[in-house]
Amino acid sequence: MHISARVFKKLQAITGKPYCKIEKEDLACYAYDAITRDVFPDVVVFPENTGEVSEILTLASREKIPVVPRGSGTGTTGGSLALSGGIVLVMTRMNRIIHIDRDNFVARVEPGVITGDLHNAVEAVGLFYPPDPSSASFSTLGGNVAECAGGPRAVKYGVTRDYVLGLTAVLATGEVIKTGVQTAKGVVGYDLTRLIIGSEGTLAVVTEMTLKLLPLPGAVMTVAVVFDSMDKAAFTVTEIIRSGIIPRCVEYLDKASIACVQSYANLDLPIGAEALLIIETDGRRDAAEYDLRCLTEICRKNDCILIKTAESKEEKDALWAARKAVSPSLYMYGPDKINEDIVVPRSRIPEMVKMIETLRKDSGLTMVSFGHAGDGNIHVNIMLDKGKKGDLEKAEYVVDRIFDETLSLGGTLSGEHGVGITKLPYISKEIGQTERLLMQQIKTVFDPHNILNPGKIFG
Ligand SMILES: Cc1cc2nc3c(=O)[nH]c(=O)nc-3n(C[C@H](O)[C@H](O)[C@H](O)COP(=O)(O)OP(=O)(O)OC[C@H]3O[C@@H](n4cnc5c(N)ncnc54)[C@H](O)[C@@H]3O)c2cc1C
Repeated sequence: MHISARVFKKLQAITGKPYCKIEKEDLACYAYDAITRDVFPDVVVFPENTGEVSEILTLASREKIPVVPRGSGTGTTGGSLALSGGIVLVMTRMNRIIHIDRDNFVARVEPGVITGDLHNAVEAVGLFYPPDPSSASFSTLGGNVAECAGGPRAVKYGVTRDYVLGLTAVLATGEVIKTGVQTAKGVVGYDLTRLIIGSEGTLAVVTEMTLKLLPLPGAVMTVAVVFDSMDKAAFTVTEIIRSGIIPRCVEYLDKASIACVQSYANLDLPIGAEALLIIETDGRRDAAEYDLRCLTEICRKNDCILIKTAESKEEKDALWAARKAVSPSLYMYGPDKINEDIVVPRSRIPEMVKMIETLRKDSGLTMVSFGHAGDGNIHVNIMLDKGKKGDLEKAEYVVDRIFDETLSLGGTLSGEHGVGITKLPYISKEIGQTERLLMQQIKTVFDPHNILNPGKIFG
């Protein structure tokens, strides 16, 4: 794809010259996501409002130029990469928290707001926005909506889609649509809001969101629990869920993840630590304390070797900072990684963990597992060196086996990272032909010329 000088001038006229870039060094800053780099667009534009997004898409539609919406580029499946060149539409200038409505527990926001900034803003007035991807301090709410992001708190509070009441979005043709409601409920017409959530920027560009908020829980209790075997930790997660007490988070780290955490923040864990659970409860202080007591009792019954309570905010923050550092620190194990985020029914976690361990031993590859075990979402990372003979073939075999086993246990290939390009070869394992066709027809209705994020989800 090549953008002509005429089209470039028109784009500049829409956004203003400083917000329309074509130099290679500028494009390089938008040629990557969390796993891939060097996929260069032809031009990068930074719209300021819905009107500019609409004008850009009207132009792109007329000229049949691909448009790839982009937040912070932290996606892990290639969603924000301009595979066919064209325009990368960076939404980060649209970063206003328009209104926080304390009476109705809603917030109106633009897509470029950093998730953590919304957390801070609503918490300052006693409210709570639960979706908390581990990337919250740098990902955008628009990217969260497009991927239907989850996070540690999803086990109790659900994922992004559970907090989006309505959207303003721009179609590939440039038409502006408003979906959903500003109210606590509403069922008039098809649920276009949910259709756009998780559509990975292939159906529409989101330019405003109305989000549901909750009252801020009074207390949060946090413990780190260490086990000398992965099986025991996995079984404990199943028991916790079965107990009927819903924790705010149950995060899981295997031995290799613990080693990353230890080098990042010395947690002073005992020798023989094979698995770590981070468990949180929240609510009224007495209730949160009671729930935590019950859950730590389950851990004791399952032979944990250490329970460490985070006594202060600093201790909690240090624990979470270490947990959030796992993903980026994995490169200490190898120059390349294949990152999957499978989900299995929570009662099947022990079987899945066993299967991953067997594959690790058999393949000889370094495999690191961690993630949101409370909702059955395990991030399996296969570390490899793509330059080393045989590594990639082995890794691809392992991915195939993991996906087959996940589906046979009643699971799904992705809990929160989406399909993008990396899971594209596998979606027919999970989604039937009729359903895929229906999805592709929906795509055509929304985007007849296939200009919005082409090549994603379906290829
Ligand atoms: C260290 C790390 C930890 C992570 N932890 C989690 C986690 O716990 N849970 C989780 O769910 N994810 C996690 N992620 C993945 C990633 O952060 C999320 O998918 C996040 O929602 C992406 O937001 P972004 O702003 O970076 O979007 P981008 O990566 O820029 O874009 C992602 C997709 O959204 C589309 N898009 C972006 N903005 C818009 C818009 N306004 N309208 C339409 N489409 C749009 C893009 O086209 C692309 O397909 C993690 C990533 C990293 C690097």
